[in-house]
Amino acid sequence: MFTESVIYLDHAATSGKKAPGVSTAVAAYLDGLAANVNRSTYAVSSQAAMRVLECRELLASRFRFASPSHVVFTPGQTAGLNMVIKGLLRPGDRVVVSSMEHNAVMRPLNQLQRLAGIKIDRVPCAPDGTLDPRAILPYLHEDTRLAVFTHASNVCGTMLPVQEIGELLYARGIPFVLDAAQTAGHVPIDFGALHLSALAVPGHKGLLGPSGLGALLLDPDFSERLEPLLCGGTGSASDSEEQPSYMPDRFESGTLNLPGIFGLHAALSFLTDAQILSLDESERRLAERMLDGLVQNKRVRVVGLPTGAGRVGVISIDCLTMDNAEAAYRLETEFGICTRCGLHCAPSAHKTLGTFPQGTVRFSIGYGTTEADIDAALAALDAVTAG
Ligand code: PMP
Repeated sequence: MFTESVIYLDHAATSGKKAPGVSTAVAAYLDGLAANVNRSTYAVSSQAAMRVLECRELLASRFRFASPSHVVFTPGQTAGLNMVIKGLLRPGDRVVVSSMEHNAVMRPLNQLQRLAGIKIDRVPCAPDGTLDPRAILPYLHEDTRLAVFTHASNVCGTMLPVQEIGELLYARGIPFVLDAAQTAGHVPIDFGALHLSALAVPGHKGLLGPSGLGALLLDPDFSERLEPLLCGGTGSASDSEEQPSYMPDRFESGTLNLPGIFGLHAALSFLTDAQILSLDESERRLAERMLDGLVQNKRVRVVGLPTGAGRVGVISIDCLTMDNAEAAYRLETEFGICTRCGLHCAPSAHKTLGTFPQGTVRFSIGYGTTEADIDAALAALDAVTAG
């Protein structure tokens, strides 16, 4: 996909470059004997099952999670978030969220509000996307059954104070679901230290694996309170027409995305803890470079935090002298720079940031981004906004 003439700055949508070994692992599964798992006992099936198990273990280890059997493969981040939200909430329940959430959280919640009368308490963030953790306190009620917060905004990269939020929720016994779409693989995440009940991660963004696959890490007690959204064949307990109660089968009906899991296994083998730390540091440095350059351009406004602190490498701008969509179009057609323009599936975040309905042009940094890419993007933006 990558061509020399393209500068890819849309890693918040998906990592444009996958980890070394991912395509080989996917091809090795598909080109070999692409056997199913958990359905048969012959050796190739058991070997594939071993790879699936190792992938669960790698995910558990990356997120400091003690129970690999409670790592559930999902068809993606959106599916995982729906599984928790719809698996737990019942008519009349309350849920607390921030005003920076993605539609992968807000649409299922609004659907439940319409169909089941749940109540949504939305904690307003500041115009730079930050949140004072104590601001959530007035929004926690007796009947608050769930809290869902994004780790970092997919619009402006601002990180929420999830450590403090986790402590406040834990003290009140409210389950905490973290949407780590923009942080998994970019920054270290410790399931236990954050007092999480569920962590949702996509396989195709910072984890550098194939799309169509994600994972849900579920606290064992919490998992028992969740109803599975999908029921069906698991290859286990085939004498019963009831969904198995044990993990991970309870939440994994139907054949898994095995090519994806083989690819994600390779990606996670590359993404060691040390590698994640080094990517975090280099992405932070690149974000600083981009932000320093953007401050010089008086024809754009940086949305969200102005420096590299408290954020990930997702940077949005609002063009002051021209239409954002036109700027993004010219960045691509004249300079080969791939960005994302618009509202990024997060209208509430844009309302918080003061960029609704015009949206922003988003530059997002990731694996493979270089200083030269940042400099080229800054120069191109200068040229585009100059005339
Ligand atoms: N949450 C956030 C914060 C996101 O940025 C995204 C993807 N943009 C999602 C959820 C949904 O992820 P996916 O499209 O991979 O299901």
